[in-house]
Amino acid sequence: MGGVLAPITFPFCDVENFCVRDLAWDPLGKVTVVDKTMRLMVVSDLDGSLLDHDDYSFDPVLPVLDRMDEAGIPLIVNTSKTRAEWLALRGELGNLEPFIVENGSAIYDGGEVQTFGVSRVEILESLKSLRSKFKFKGYSDVGVPEIMQWTGLERQSAERSADRHFSEPLVWQDSLEKEEEFCELVKERGLTTLRGGRFLHVLGQTDKGKPLEHLRKENVAIISLGDRPNDLAMLEAADIGVVIKAPGDYILEAVDMLRSTETGPRGWAEMMTQILDQFQIPYSTINNG
Ligand SMILES: [Mg+2]
Repeated sequence: MGGVLAPITFPFCDVENFCVRDLAWDPLGKVTVVDKTMRLMVVSDLDGSLLDHDDYSFDPVLPVLDRMDEAGIPLIVNTSKTRAEWLALRGELGNLEPFIVENGSAIYDGGEVQTFGVSRVEILESLKSLRSKFKFKGYSDVGVPEIMQWTGLERQSAERSADRHFSEPLVWQDSLEKEEEFCELVKERGLTTLRGGRFLHVLGQTDKGKPLEHLRKENVAIISLGDRPNDLAMLEAADIGVVIKAPGDYILEAVDMLRSTETGPRGWAEMMTQILDQFQIPYSTINNG
């Protein structure tokens, strides 16, 4: 459940020592400045944005992350993935900042968790009454081998993907009309659905934008980057929203956003480099070759 949301304490995130700059650049006219100095915070999607869809590589963003690190600009990952999945990945980036999981369902900050969604136990309980009316199969109905088949993930990755706390992915086995009816009934139960590729996700009434209001601090401009419809709420809640180009013909419809010309982490690096240049953030002293 939502619960009482105390301000997050950022044990790992040295918010007070952000780079302080005169605000010289506000491309979308959305930044609210109180005293003409501005600190920056980056909140980013993972898959297809920071992380390459195909080779699961972060390489193009590493020099930019070094630059942000030295300037004290935190990177907060906002992913549809689970906590276990991000914990397995984040070592590669040396990232210890708070992070948002399962499509805006919770922020983990050190040992603390703030939830915006609904517990999976409650979601599964709500789904019980719909099982006689509709044909679907969820993660909770099957073992790891079947999840490996569904997702194409290897065992360990499939286990991390199954380690869910705030959402349930379903494989829909009924008609399209039935799916619409199902989504309505899910809504009546105080939950929401999200179509993502092969799964229909059931989660609490949250989205990737909701936790941003919780991260907001005075004089901190939030830059958000994402590539898909589930990122829209986050991009809209940010001061500077950046659409990362998706491969192929797909174009994310969004207004008042910056857009990368390259895809995935290359597009991420392209846009963050431009933004950091505009804010006159020095280049990293680490030679990344
Ligand atoms: Mg994405």
